[in-house]
Amino acid sequence: MKLLTILIFLLFSNWIFAQKEFIPDPIQKRGKKFIFVDFIQAKHQFIIKQISKKIIVKSKIIFQSDIKGYPLFDFSIRPKKITLNGKTAKIKKIRILGNYTRNASIPFTFFWGIKKRISSGTHTLEMEHELKKGVSFRPFSLRFWYWDLVGKHFLNKYLPTNMEFDQYPITMEFKSSENLLDTLDFESNAYKLIKSEGNRILEYPKHLSASSVYLHIHQKNKFPIKEFTFVNIENKSIPIRVYADKISLLKDIQTKITNELQELESVFGVWPHPNLLLYLHPSNENHNYEYAGAFESSLKSMPHEIFHGYFSRSMTPADGNSGWIDEAIAEWRDSGYPKLKSLSKNKASNLACNNKYRQRTVKESYSKGRDFISHLDYLFNQKELIFSDFLKLFLKKHKHKVINTSIFIRESSDYYGEDLKKKFCYFVCNKSTLKGCKL
Ligand SMILES: [Zn+2]
Repeated sequence: MKLLTILIFLLFSNWIFAQKEFIPDPIQKRGKKFIFVDFIQAKHQFIIKQISKKIIVKSKIIFQSDIKGYPLFDFSIRPKKITLNGKTAKIKKIRILGNYTRNASIPFTFFWGIKKRISSGTHTLEMEHELKKGVSFRPFSLRFWYWDLVGKHFLNKYLPTNMEFDQYPITMEFKSSENLLDTLDFESNAYKLIKSEGNRILEYPKHLSASSVYLHIHQKNKFPIKEFTFVNIENKSIPIRVYADKISLLKDIQTKITNELQELESVFGVWPHPNLLLYLHPSNENHNYEYAGAFESSLKSMPHEIFHGYFSRSMTPADGNSGWIDEAIAEWRDSGYPKLKSLSKNKASNLACNNKYRQRTVKESYSKGRDFISHLDYLFNQKELIFSDFLKLFLKKHKHKVINTSIFIRESSDYYGEDLKKKFCYFVCNKSTLKGCKL
């Protein structure tokens, strides 16, 4: 029995604990050590007050730490009524300054530090805030929308979270009158929606991170919907739901998505999500973003966003220094998998060696990253290796896990049979020697 308990714990622990290598370094401020912790689970209760037009969110986060220090969490606003292990606690804004002298006085990003030192172990953090972003009361709707090129534009825009490296199960509970809840549709990438009187509960899977959680609550019948199934290469039926701003966007949508998924599966293997949810916008709307198995896109960007179902939202970048990988590979695919024999010096750029607390992806990842991937494809081809075969293996190994640039270098070098670190340092860190290269 004891052995069984240990085995269950090991199996379970593999799911819920963050990969320790991704936990960012502590931040020293005035002799205090502020530490990033490992979220184990988060429950957010949304109390929707229709008369006063307010949503109050009460959050309960259970986290774990191996070291002593002052715990940090990520949130775009200052929450209220904070308690740590049941006792009232104060918080402090911990600013991270920019890397460059010119910008040294401008905060690069910030986190919230709890002014209470914790010992190693498991702790409970509770707080409250009024949710204002993404909310409308006429008629009621709530929508989370992210953007990876701007800081604090993930789940941290709406709810207290951890940095992107952390994967943990989230439960969202919505409390209101049945009169309101009954008029609403809940679009999300949660695995479960539980309904009861005056209550809707969404349970999200354990592998989602702060950049992957999708939520859009809207009035029933507001959007035209098309539902169908896609039979994947393992002969399983994948339910697909598309809702759109305009009915005309749904024309031939089944054929378009089926063709896309067939091409993707032929190159990168089986679709890594149990379903696919897509919110389609007209082409003039610039809301294109990928969540885990859920996407917001125009028809034009749809192939790019759905591709991210593999790179970015099955395998998730640990931070803003790793986000370049998925954009570079997506652009390489969008361009028809080109091979580039030589790369000039002006293609070198710093995509992966910026501030270690960076959360957003470098814009040049699309163009310069694509060219670097095209060059890798050429190099692999010279050795009669197929670069996309490596990517397929890499995806399989890291399905629903977090990766960073170092892991990508290590595993692509192993497959290639030669150390590629110097090339990565040159082209994605803009460093001509290994010595100054932080990878
Ligand atoms: Zn992209």
